Amino acid sequence: MAGIIRFAPSPTGYLHEGHLLSALYVWAAAKKWNLKIHLRIEDHDQGRARPEYIQSIFEDLSWFGFKWDSQSIQSARNDIYTAALEKLKRQNLVYPCYCSRRQLEEENPKSETGEIVYQGKCRTLNEIASDVPHNLRVVVPDKIIHWHDLRMGDFDENPKIQCGDFPIKDRDGQWTYQFAVCVDDIEDGITHVVRGEDIRSSTARQVALMQILGRREPPIYLHHALIVDASGKKLSKREKAHSLRQDIDAGISPEEILGKLCQKAGLQDSFVQISLQNAINLVAASIP
Ligand code: GLU
Repeated sequence: MAGIIRFAPSPTGYLHEGHLLSALYVWAAAKKWNLKIHLRIEDHDQGRARPEYIQSIFEDLSWFGFKWDSQSIQSARNDIYTAALEKLKRQNLVYPCYCSRRQLEEENPKSETGEIVYQGKCRTLNEIASDVPHNLRVVVPDKIIHWHDLRMGDFDENPKIQCGDFPIKDRDGQWTYQFAVCVDDIEDGITHVVRGEDIRSSTARQVALMQILGRREPPIYLHHALIVDASGKKLSKREKAHSLRQDIDAGISPEEILGKLCQKAGLQDSFVQISLQNAINLVAASIP
């Protein structure tokens, strides 16, 4: 099958083992399904993205031997996002929201996952004040989105119940992850999305937004299990997970880093050094 898969790290910290596992899954899926690989730097959050992190994504991936076919960076795509916003505006599906964080907390219920479910308070405002801080929300359809995950099975989820109308541009004028990722997946012709299970709950809203933006067939999805730290929590850059760079700088070989990761992820029973190609093959064998 021909198609395109993407690896889409956010340059808000150095890459850690969680990213490396995602990368192995992406490269394994590409090998298994004969897909081209697109590397996307998701620097939509300009408050947290840093040039040194962007550079380290390229350097660290190359150090391990990962190769990709094309690449893009979100900060260079303002025109594309603006065109997509205009498309939504023409359908009357965008409105400014003036609610403060506190109002959002106090006036809206929470979903099963603890997420605020915005009830659409600002959707019916008559007076629009462009000089007052606001974000832009997209109107999500009140309908069940059926989608399938190759590992986790079928999902029937209604974004109106999961999150309600969600922000596509934040108060600082930055494109949000949810919006940018949908526009990019359309723009890049992404046919397969392989990413961590922590993003699974965003999928239905992304499928809904892609439909509104004109993409009928959503990508094929696979959300892989995450590796957790010693206390059982997922690795996170915010909490300063041990970075790959620290291991690289300490002179540890790629085979050793990959061997430890494959053991932690349950792909190997015990620690054995492993080459990138063999690690990719191992992950490929675990993909349904
Ligand atoms: N940029 C996201 C991250 O680094 C990944 C988003 C995605 O794969 O959809 O966690």
